[in-house]
Amino acid sequence: MNKNRQQQLRDLPSVSVILDHMQSEVELWGHDAVTRAARGHLEALRAAIQSDESVASDLSIIQQTIRDGLTATSQPALKSVFNLTGIVLHSNLGRANLADAAIDAMNRVAGSANNLEYDLEKGQRGDRDSHIESLICELTGAEAATVINNNAAAVLLTLNTLALGKTVPVSRGELVEIGGSFRVPDIMGRSGCSLVEVGTTNRTHLKDYANAIDADTALLMRVHTSNYRIEGFTNTVPESELATLAHENQIPFVVDMGCGNLIDLKALGLPHEATAQQTLAHGADLVLFSGDKLLGGPQAGIIAGRVDLIARIKQNPLKRALRLDKVTLAALEATLQLYRNPDELVSRLPTLRLLTRAEDSIREQANRLAPKVSSLLGNQYGVDIASVSSQIGSGALPVEVLASAALSITAANGGDEPLRALAQRLRRLPKPVIGRLHNGALLLDLRCLEAIHEDAFIEQLTELPQ
Ligand SMILES: *Cc1c(COP(=O)(O)O)cnc(C)c1O
Repeated sequence: MNKNRQQQLRDLPSVSVILDHMQSEVELWGHDAVTRAARGHLEALRAAIQSDESVASDLSIIQQTIRDGLTATSQPALKSVFNLTGIVLHSNLGRANLADAAIDAMNRVAGSANNLEYDLEKGQRGDRDSHIESLICELTGAEAATVINNNAAAVLLTLNTLALGKTVPVSRGELVEIGGSFRVPDIMGRSGCSLVEVGTTNRTHLKDYANAIDADTALLMRVHTSNYRIEGFTNTVPESELATLAHENQIPFVVDMGCGNLIDLKALGLPHEATAQQTLAHGADLVLFSGDKLLGGPQAGIIAGRVDLIARIKQNPLKRALRLDKVTLAALEATLQLYRNPDELVSRLPTLRLLTRAEDSIREQANRLAPKVSSLLGNQYGVDIASVSSQIGSGALPVEVLASAALSITAANGGDEPLRALAQRLRRLPKPVIGRLHNGALLLDLRCLEAIHEDAFIEQLTELPQ
């Protein structure tokens, strides 16, 4: 080892000297974490000196590096992002944004004891479903209801309760896969019932179901084909006919509605989607739907319908394993409360507010933002305004699209590489910006950028990392 190296190694401060000068960091992150970080950094410096790299052994620089490292690793891994993908209910980006009322309700119960399973009238143990069941019944017209972790769990729990060891006929056209990990046949298998496929992919008739029913049949099930649609020569059996057939055979008719809608979307200028009320009125004995899709609430699964069936579902031991926690329950209750006042629903519920934003207002916003974004990105990039189609997302109405406007960013040299690089830099912002690459442009669909977040969005671009 040459003299210079030895000198450099000797010049490195000791761990205890570093810690002496980092008392506020020790207080913030703890002695062990700062010690580990200091040791790690000194080791890296020694290795660099051994391989003749030039290193900065200044105490203040060493401290700063350690501080930066600790700051970086203590950032939350789960962050909020700007969803400019144009998909309002994006399953990878957390689906529905909660309403203020729901967030307030979560805060209220999170840090305090509460009556989750305590009957305040009687002063004795209560039922956690009680806070929400009558509300669901009021909004859906169901006799009874229960809530669990998500809609996949609702399907699992319902089949496990009502069809264990028995068979369930399902139309071939409804054996869908939703988001990769939820496949109807797989869930049916895990719930302990056997699937009997009826009909063909494009056409299923009432007689297909009728022929499939025998002594082993537990129930009839319809599954909303959420994320695709078969067009052309098709036939599906109306819900009311399936309900009648089921009831003639003394078995229940269950509908997995997927997105779960409670209001007339057409009246809001959105594509039609059946409501839970309608499906129950068509004779479904149970409807199952998600809390965080069109409903606009937290992740949850809602089961509503006949009181005797709900009672059996509540008694299934799996219910305990799939139940909701107090924070989610509070958010779901607050979300459902909003539905009691339809006049204010759209303004109060972010999901509907975003879905119903007028194209004109989004375009105006694009006109406002384009010059600012353009000047912040510099002359390597051009920023135009493009007409795009937003999607509802989460398997709700997959084919229907909503007219919207996007900032369309192109690279001055016409290449895709600078766009990919820009997309990555945008994802590295403190509040990452997620757009989509399409036909040689990076599209930032502004539908989900509400006016109140606009300034924060622009401000952040001034610190766009290289
Ligand atoms: C989304 C969906 C599910 C799964 O719901 P999660 O709430 O995501 O568990 C099940 N069935 C259908 C038809 C769906 O669209």
